[in-house]
Amino acid sequence: MAFPITRLRRLRRTAEIRNLVSETRLTPDAFVYPMFVCPGEGVRKEVRSMPGVFNLSVDEAVKEAQEVHSLGVPSVILFGLPDKKDEVATGAWADDGIVQQAARAMKREVPGLILMGDVCLCEYMSHGHCGIVKATPLAKSLGAAATDTLKSARVVVVQNEDEKARAIEKVASQMADYARRIEYEIDNDSSLELLARTSVSLAKAGIDIIAPSDMMDGRVAAIRRALDEAGLINTPILSYAAKFASGYYGPFREAADSAPQFGDRRSYQMDGANVREAMREIEADIEEGADMIMVKPALPYLDVIAAARDRFDLPLAAYQVSGEYAMIEAAAKNGWIERDRVMMESLVSIRRAGASIILTYYAKEAARVLA
Ligand SMILES: [Zn+2]
Repeated sequence: MAFPITRLRRLRRTAEIRNLVSETRLTPDAFVYPMFVCPGEGVRKEVRSMPGVFNLSVDEAVKEAQEVHSLGVPSVILFGLPDKKDEVATGAWADDGIVQQAARAMKREVPGLILMGDVCLCEYMSHGHCGIVKATPLAKSLGAAATDTLKSARVVVVQNEDEKARAIEKVASQMADYARRIEYEIDNDSSLELLARTSVSLAKAGIDIIAPSDMMDGRVAAIRRALDEAGLINTPILSYAAKFASGYYGPFREAADSAPQFGDRRSYQMDGANVREAMREIEADIEEGADMIMVKPALPYLDVIAAARDRFDLPLAAYQVSGEYAMIEAAAKNGWIERDRVMMESLVSIRRAGASIILTYYAKEAARVLA
């Protein structure tokens, strides 16, 4: 049937009719609110690049969790800022770690709230990477470094003491570069033990759902085994199965103080060009025992969410990340877009793509709009 029998505008005439035929419905029970817990008391420090998002001490985080819950948002995901970092991420798995403390307090004060625990090592490692770093000196003994340098050096004729000093300095610094060169590698297999230990520690502290975000191969299996051995057979795993190396994580690194001190995360997080590889990542995590899967970030990867929804039957989550939030906030602050409208439109798009769970910094605001 074609025009004029068919008129698609008939069902768009009023808000009530539009609502009746809406294909995608958002409700606050789809939302998970990310929170950053820091040491201290009474701390409520706004993240510069994420207006409205705070680093909260445990006492303040509990208050925030109460507010989140009262708005009808069923869940929070916790990230920690430890008071000190080291080379084995002690703060991630220590019994008195910052997230462990927050989990105990929240379980006590807001028992109905689902607590997710992000499992990664970057916030707790002095170097800011998500796994154990293996440093391999490529060097070269001092003798070999000197030989290489001198072999490649050109003969220069110097006219005075100044030029002579400069020439020596140049050769010396080349030698030092050769001798110091180190290759860094994020070691997969040795990181698994720490991730498993962290997961058990978090579950024991009251975290309901373990959410590994590190992107090491085999981590879901390692975590499942460790949880089961600790008797935590009913603790589900929500794996960040397809997590892309993304520029959109910028503001988060300020919020969680987790920027890598050297290199980047492209050797373990996914290449943004690959959707088939994303399916393989998800498939591997499901085989290893993931109960739920996640795609991160959301907006630039809506097609990946849709492909995952098409192919897999597990509950599917998507993470609307810090950069997605920061862009909307910044544009709205300039009066260039209507903030609430763009916020809801972006959340609907993630839902429409197929995610049934949305991790978002807008959880509270969107719940207010939906109320
Ligand atoms: Zn990490």
